[in-house]
Amino acid sequence: MTTLAGTNTRTIVGYVVTLLEYPRWVIAREVDFTDCHLAGSFDSSDRQCSSCHFGAACSWLHVNQGPPAADAALGDLLEALRISVEFLRTSSFNPHKHARNCECDTCVWLHEAQGFLRHQRHKA
Ligand SMILES: [Zn+2]
Repeated sequence: MTTLAGTNTRTIVGYVVTLLEYPRWVIAREVDFTDCHLAGSFDSSDRQCSSCHFGAACSWLHVNQGPPAADAALGDLLEALRISVEFLRTSSFNPHKHARNCECDTCVWLHEAQGFLRHQRHKA
């Protein structure tokens, strides 16, 4: 994926920030705001938001709308990455059967993100 070859990947935070670009794009594409009474501006105190089946993804998107601040905490970024990995692994975002060696953008991204998370866990 070309986005991973950016100049922003020299630090771990920069790398995670770059990794988060792909799920942000996918989730923004998949979450359907057509029937949203808030037009996509998630509100955690709103009753419709808590029962909406896009709720979790919408909430994620709301927090991760733009690139994180340069001084974002690594722990928060890793948590955002973990959640986005879960989203992209679930069938609503990834409805087709993917072979183990599938090389579509999503599988390539999941492979990289999961490998990175595994590596981080071993270091912690
Ligand atoms: Zn695939």
